[in-house]
Amino acid sequence: MTDITEIKNANARLTELAYKDELTGLYNRSFMNRILASPENYFKQKEFSLIFIDLDSFKLINDNLGHLAGDKVLQLFSQRLSQAMRSSDFVIRHGGDEFLALVNGHVTNNAIQQIVKKINQTLATPFEIESETLTLTCSIGIAFCQNGEDIHDLLRHADIAMYEAKRDGKNSYRIFDPLYAEKVRYQLFLEQGLRAAIDQKALEVWFQPIVDMHSNIVSYEALCRWHDEASGFISPEEFIPIAERSWLIYPLGLFVFEKACEFIKAVRETGAECRVNVNLSAKQVSNVSLSKIFCELLCKHKVSPHWVTLEVTESTLINNGNELILMSLKELGFGIALDDFGNGYSNLSRLREFPIDIIKLDKSLIQGRFTDQSMRIVTDAVQNMCLALGYTLTVEGVETRHQYEHFAQSEKVLQQGYFHGKPLPAEEILGALKNSNNLSK
Ligand code: C2E
Ligand code: CA
Ligand code: CA
Repeated sequence: MTDITEIKNANARLTELAYKDELTGLYNRSFMNRILASPENYFKQKEFSLIFIDLDSFKLINDNLGHLAGDKVLQLFSQRLSQAMRSSDFVIRHGGDEFLALVNGHVTNNAIQQIVKKINQTLATPFEIESETLTLTCSIGIAFCQNGEDIHDLLRHADIAMYEAKRDGKNSYRIFDPLYAEKVRYQLFLEQGLRAAIDQKALEVWFQPIVDMHSNIVSYEALCRWHDEASGFISPEEFIPIAERSWLIYPLGLFVFEKACEFIKAVRETGAECRVNVNLSAKQVSNVSLSKIFCELLCKHKVSPHWVTLEVTESTLINNGNELILMSLKELGFGIALDDFGNGYSNLSRLREFPIDIIKLDKSLIQGRFTDQSMRIVTDAVQNMCLALGYTLTVEGVETRHQYEHFAQSEKVLQQGYFHGKPLPAEEILGALKNSNNLSK
C-alpha cells in the first residue's frame, strides 16, 4: 500500500517537474502543450482569451546587473502576476521574459482593460535588486477565442498583437486585429525577397558625398539599395529593420562593407583621396568575429581601415560590452561616428565612454531648424557641445544653400545632404571622376 502511495507521489512530483517552470514555479510551455494535446477536454467547451506579456528591455537588466539579478526579477514578477490573476486563470512562463495568462470565461473589452491595469500594477512598485531600484514596463498582446480558433492560433494572434504594442513604443497593449496579421505576412514576404536578393547579390550600394565647409568631398556614405523586380524600389527604412530582425543584417552588412572597399580602391586608382562611411547596426557590432571578417575584406581589397568610418547608432551604445568591441575597431584604425544623434535617447553623459570621433546630427533636427526657434536653439547647443568636446560634427539632411551657409562656419563641421549631392551608384561617381581627370589633363 505504502509502495503504491509512494509511487503515486513520485509520479505526481514528476508531473509537477515536467509542467512547472523551475525558476518561477509557474506552469511552463509543456503544460501549454498538454492542454493543446487535449483540446476536447478543456478549451472546446469553454470561452477563454490569451494574454501575452513581454517585459520591455529586460535584456538590459541581464546585461548590466547579471543573470542572477535578471532571475530575481523574473521570480518576483511571477509572484506578483500570479497574485494579480484569478485562481481559475492559468499563468504560464512561455520562456525568457515572456509570460502568458489564460483567462477563463467570457471577457468583455472592459474586463480586459481591468486585467491590463492589474498587470501594469504588478510593475508599478519598483523591484529592489542588489541595492538597485529597477522600474519595469511590459508590452501586452491579447487574443480572444471568437471563431473556434485553437490555442495555436490564439498564441500566434496574441504574439502578433504583443509585437504591435512593442513596435508602437512598448509599455502598452494591443488587442489582436486581422490587419496586424496582414502586416506580418507582408513582412515575411519582404524577408523572403530580401534573402533571395542577398543570395543573388541583387542589392546595390550607392554613395552620398560628405563635404567640408568649402564643399570639398571628404568622404562618402555607403547606402544600401534594393530594387525588387516585382515590387520596385524598396526603401532601406523598410528593409533594414527586417534584416535586423531576421539576422540577414550579417550577410547584408558584409556585402555593403565589401562594396565600400571596392569603391575606395576604385576611387583611389583615379588618383583621388577617398574615405567611406559604412552603417553598422547594433546586431552586427555584437558579432564577435566582426573585426576579423572586416580585416580579411580590407586585406583582400588592399584598403586601409583608416579610410573607413563606421557609423553606429545609440542602440549600439546601450548594449553593455559594445564599448570594448568599438574600442578594438578604433584601435584597428577605423573611424567611429555616432549616427542619427538627436533622434532618440541622446545620452550625452555616456558618450564619453565610447571612442567616438564624429557625431552626425539627425536630419529631422536640421530640417526643422529654420522654422522652429526651439529647434534652432537645440541644434546650436549640440553643435557647441560637440565642438567643445573635440568631436567633428556632421550635419545631415542639408537641402538648401541657406542651411549650407549657416553651418559652414567651422572646419570641424561637415555636411551631407541633397544640396551637396544625392546618393549615386559607384559607376556614376567613378565616371565623373575619370571625366574630370581627363579634362584637367
Ligand atoms: P542614415 O544612416 O541616417 O542615412 C542617411 C539617409 O538620409 C539616407 O537615406 C539618405 O539617402 C538620406 N538623405 C541624405 N541626404 C538627405 C537630404 O538632404 N534630405 C533627405 N530627406 N534625406 C537625405 P536612405 O538611403 O533611405 O537610408 C535610410 C536609412 O537606412 C539610413 O539612414 C540607415 O539607417 C539605413 N541604412 C541604409 N543603408 C544601410 C546599410 O548598409 N546598413 C545599415 N545597417 N543601415 C543602412
Ligand atoms: Ca548613416
Ligand atoms: Ca543618419
